[in-house]
Amino acid sequence: MENTSILVVEDEYRIRQFLRAALEGEGCKVLEAPTVAAGLALVSEYKPELVILDLGLPDADGRQFIRSLRGWSDVPIMVLSARNLEADKVSLLDAGADDYLAKPFGVAELLARLRALKRRREKRPMDSSAIVKFGEVTVDQVNRLTFRNGEPVHLTPREYHLLTIMLAQPGKVLTQRQLLREVWGAGHSEDGHYLRIYIGRLRQKLESDPSQPQHLLTETGVGYRFCQ
Ligand code: CA
Repeated sequence: MENTSILVVEDEYRIRQFLRAALEGEGCKVLEAPTVAAGLALVSEYKPELVILDLGLPDADGRQFIRSLRGWSDVPIMVLSARNLEADKVSLLDAGADDYLAKPFGVAELLARLRALKRRREKRPMDSSAIVKFGEVTVDQVNRLTFRNGEPVHLTPREYHLLTIMLAQPGKVLTQRQLLREVWGAGHSEDGHYLRIYIGRLRQKLESDPSQPQHLLTETGVGYRFCQ
């Protein structure tokens, strides 16, 4: 995280100080904004590499920040929420947040999640052409081939599409709605049972123990996460 520039949008001074100390301890450069308006201005001016966003801000809701920002910036956003409701998480991720942590959270977990967001961003240009490996599996995205322990695995086009969407965003929670829209189209954004079936098939084909998946993980009530 050395020299990573991070914007903290948070109205509580003590939490900003706490985050600044933790992040500077990792060698990060920290910018602070106490309001949505100030946060948007700082992203525009300084183009930080990551944003940590509190939801309850004095001038607007944090969701407003995400919606405003996503029109012109794809900087990764880590949301800090005082509430830990599944419906909230889903709406935040759908709005364009990259990850969330409920308060109170541990510094070690926050730093680990931020590292994952940064790694994902750095890898992005390679995604479409990369060979991705996890567990016993190798996915050759150039030739659209999947292997397990060196043996070819047959995936249907839809299974393969779903898999590659997840592989492209390791560590990120993808909501059911996002995945359904990508793979089945906008008309199917409520058809969560499609996803359960297809994720189940991918686990059968790719996980060492499909009942205890290590890579294609369920985020209960929210969606799915690929863990490399
Ligand atoms: Ca607040």
